[in-house]
Amino acid sequence: MKSLILPLIILMNLVLSCTQPTGLTPIRAVIELDIGESEEITLNNGEKVRLTLMEIEVDLDSLRNAIRSVNVKVSVDGEEVCLGSGNYHLPVEVGNIQIDCPVVKNYYTNSNSDRWGLTKDARFRLWPKGSSYMDPGTFVYPVKQKWFASMSQSGNEPPYVDWGEDPASKEIYYHSGHDFGGAEGMDEIVSATDGLVISALGDTLEGYDDFPGDIRTDVVWILTNLGWYIRYSHLDSTDAAIRTGASVRMGQRIGFMGKQGGSGGWVHLHFELKTRETASGNWGTEDAYAYLWESYVNQYDPTVIAVARPHHLLWTGQQTILDGGKSKSYAGDIVSYEWAFSDGTNAEGAIQERSYTMPGEYSEVLKVTDSKGNVDYDFTVVQVYDRDNPDQTIPVVQAAYHPSLDIKPDDPVTFLVRTFNTEVGSEIWDFGDGSPQVSVRSETPDRQNYTEGKFAETVHSFAEPGDYIVKVERLDEAGIRANAHLHVVVND
Ligand SMILES: [Zn+2]
Repeated sequence: MKSLILPLIILMNLVLSCTQPTGLTPIRAVIELDIGESEEITLNNGEKVRLTLMEIEVDLDSLRNAIRSVNVKVSVDGEEVCLGSGNYHLPVEVGNIQIDCPVVKNYYTNSNSDRWGLTKDARFRLWPKGSSYMDPGTFVYPVKQKWFASMSQSGNEPPYVDWGEDPASKEIYYHSGHDFGGAEGMDEIVSATDGLVISALGDTLEGYDDFPGDIRTDVVWILTNLGWYIRYSHLDSTDAAIRTGASVRMGQRIGFMGKQGGSGGWVHLHFELKTRETASGNWGTEDAYAYLWESYVNQYDPTVIAVARPHHLLWTGQQTILDGGKSKSYAGDIVSYEWAFSDGTNAEGAIQERSYTMPGEYSEVLKVTDSKGNVDYDFTVVQVYDRDNPDQTIPVVQAAYHPSLDIKPDDPVTFLVRTFNTEVGSEIWDFGDGSPQVSVRSETPDRQNYTEGKFAETVHSFAEPGDYIVKVERLDEAGIRANAHLHVVVND
């Protein structure tokens, strides 16, 4: 009898472990509070902390009334701290915790849908001080690509790539999940976690019919050991092993980056974590940025990361604040923030006030240097519309390159570009190494059929190791410019 029962138990456990979450719990504790409310929260390590939500302030743009920044004041065991919300903010250390605020109720004022499942004024995530965000060894960076290799749209950032932000559109999609721009059919996507494929190629697993989003041929859904659903969207191709019902290992290939499904025509991976661990019990997005940051740092060991994002939306003549303060050095302290602006001027300091007289799409360059002499670059996109002619479109450009990791001198690197909102002109590449400019012409995207049409490709190699700031520009019929930058690192 014993000899029969034991294999049965093993078999049942195998079946269970293949079809259900293994009961692992995330490190972060989650709490929702109303303004003025105070609660004691037990952290993952058993310690307790009293959190009070004091105040929420939001900044709106004057074109769409979309929330561009959030300032949440909380008290942690009597110590006050201000937090941002989404938009490339990492958790902040205060007292014996790390804390962030992925969403506030204010987003519901003009959001086109509820992607958060929030019931109170704000949601907070709390980790013990010094703890990793995710259990070590359980989460990898899901793209084989350099950090910020192309444009991105992170949590709560209004989407702006493809046709750009439309000043006339007042219902806002506050982006849920993180978009990685990249090279079509070239950038490899891997599974961030172990898990079970519950949907691939439009096919879904029996018993898993409550999906928190689209089921499509370009979307893969994976159920993780935390019980979270991870969405990988817009795939150009899906790996043969990624089939509904298959178990996947962390780091296993899922497919290649594309612009299929509701991509808007730009090549990117939409990566989104969904959980029902919300106060409402409804599906909510778990902001992925901190987990992505941590996994990239663990895998690639960068000395310093420049962050100039999110993007900006302005009328001509209106001022905005560019902020490089979310940059971080792991080797020392950041000692300088240098901006190179599109008008040819330069400035020092993390925070800069800017305004623009001409409409267009600008890309402003941030260089950060740390106390050990390490440097990194990032770019912020500024989309400027003519206040006196608000219906006038601006050209919008997406640029990418492949490979973006481990480039050596003389390696061929493919540069890709596509411009939206214009049918005239060519894209002009400047590779930043003194070589002649190269002119290409991408196929004009069709709004009704944006998965068709090619990015323009050109191959370039760099003779010497170094940091290269590559620029691409296109003018539309009215002479309005769109610019993009890429940071290419060539190693010895
Ligand atoms: Zn997306």
